[in-house]
Amino acid sequence: MSGDNIKAGIRKHAWKVDAKRADKYIKYCPKCKRCYEQMFRHTWQQLTIVYLENFPSYGKEKLICDDCVKKSALASSNAKKGG
Ligand SMILES: [Zn+2]
Repeated sequence: MSGDNIKAGIRKHAWKVDAKRADKYIKYCPKCKRCYEQMFRHTWQQLTIVYLENFPSYGKEKLICDDCVKKSALASSNAKKGG
């Protein structure tokens, strides 16, 4: 009986953080003027925004964050309806 050589169930540290790689995911929102990072939370199956206070925006891709997108979408939908 030699069935003990099971390779299944090996857990790799998928959450290992590489600073340079993480930097690629950091974006700068020109609307609220802060850097943020979008992370995918597998446990929640959704994107989470983490705001980085006092983070240098130099060289970061400028992209309006989800929070501001929602706010502007709300504002524009209100404007369309007209008061
Ligand atoms: Zn923003």
